[in-house]
Amino acid sequence: MTTVAVIGAGPAGLMAAEILGAAGLTVTVLDRMPSVARKFLIAGRGGLNLTHSEPLENLKARYGAAGTRLSPLLEAFPPQALIDWAEGLGQPTFIGTSGRVFPKSLKASPLLRAWLARLKAHGVAIKTRHDWRGWSENGQLLFAHAGTTSQVKADATILALGGASWPRLGSNGAWVELLAKHGVPITPLRPANCGFTAAWSEPFRTRFEGQPLKSIALTFDGRTVRGEAMVTRTGLEGGAIYALSAALRDAIAGQGAATLEIDLRPDMSLAELGRKLDRPRAGETLANFLRKAINLAPVGINLLREGHGLHLAATAEQIKSLPIKLTGTQSIDRAISTAGGIALDALDGDLMLRDLPNVYAVGEMLDWEAPTGGYLLQATFATAVAAAKAIIRKSKQSTPQ
Ligand SMILES: Cc1cc2nc3c(=O)[nH]c(=O)nc-3n(C[C@H](O)[C@H](O)[C@H](O)COP(=O)(O)OP(=O)(O)OC[C@H]3O[C@@H](n4cnc5c(N)ncnc54)[C@H](O)[C@@H]3O)c2cc1C
Repeated sequence: MTTVAVIGAGPAGLMAAEILGAAGLTVTVLDRMPSVARKFLIAGRGGLNLTHSEPLENLKARYGAAGTRLSPLLEAFPPQALIDWAEGLGQPTFIGTSGRVFPKSLKASPLLRAWLARLKAHGVAIKTRHDWRGWSENGQLLFAHAGTTSQVKADATILALGGASWPRLGSNGAWVELLAKHGVPITPLRPANCGFTAAWSEPFRTRFEGQPLKSIALTFDGRTVRGEAMVTRTGLEGGAIYALSAALRDAIAGQGAATLEIDLRPDMSLAELGRKLDRPRAGETLANFLRKAINLAPVGINLLREGHGLHLAATAEQIKSLPIKLTGTQSIDRAISTAGGIALDALDGDLMLRDLPNVYAVGEMLDWEAPTGGYLLQATFATAVAAAKAIIRKSKQSTPQ
């Protein structure tokens, strides 16, 4: 019988373990943390956006350059399969605004509880506080556990170690060095769906840190996104920023800075806004005038000052086209996800590492990225399903009938 070690008890590892366990293979899941799926549980705080309801062709396009490679895996485990799986665990789902799919409970914990019970019923063993440290000279898996090093032998191994964002939840990217030693090509890990730094003036930073910019539109590199952003001590973060973050990050890496254009009143045309501003100011401060004329909150008014500086005339053009220079990418520690990882070319069609036989890699540790919207979990699960099914297929081929 095939024994499988699944390293990493996030959604990718647990999904692979479920499929392998259900097929009767002997499965042990090992994770470095004291409890499993910590990032999945945190994702539940935002309502647990499981996947997206848009047509599959549109969904595949969200993965950019990796879309072609992920395409057959997403076809084999599409959003409906993920929805059916969640519903099978007693978590009915619904489609929210903008097509995102959530469990009705808007939480990860009930789903995880039912999932762990199912894994137990399949005989899957889970070992926590086992920190994977690579392989011994005789090819066994090495783990730091309870102050010593232990060895685990398995016919097949699935690495499901995640990226490097929010490292306190477990995935710290330490695997990069372990795999690079074995010649596995790895694209450097970078923050994805992340915030950016801007050189705020001290008064702006002090007064507006933590304040939201609601119902704005952001434009970068010809792409406009509507939504919200949040002023942070060091810059900007939030949904609309995340949506543009891959392009912004790459522009900053190449040119040292990127200028984001903010429309503070996207629901008004330039002409309409111009008409509202065309009234006497009669000695009013600029702040009072803008508040009364177009209901602009103090954070927006002061952001205009940050962006236009001495040139601020508060014209309709300036309000609809506010340039904010972003000078850096926020640390990966605070990013929602990770870009980079194991190069997809280093894996065969079954997600087995070409240079390490019987070692598979799945989930966020692979070199793909996607915006928020359920795309992260969708690809995480789809890759896990593909590797698990390949191991089952091969174990059947090698088992005498
Ligand atoms: C705040 C937040 C909200 C999010 N919300 C959503 C959302 O709503 N929808 C969505 O699609 N995505 C969301 N995501 C992203 C999503 O959670 C991840 O893409 C997903 O968890 C990746 O799954 P994974 O199993 O590949 O990796 P992880 O979930 O990171 O799991 C990897 C596991 O491997 C373990 N591990 C790492 N290294 C070792 C080692 N050396 N030895 C042993 N174990 C190790 C870790 O402890 C961890 O348990 C969110 C992320 C964050 C941070």
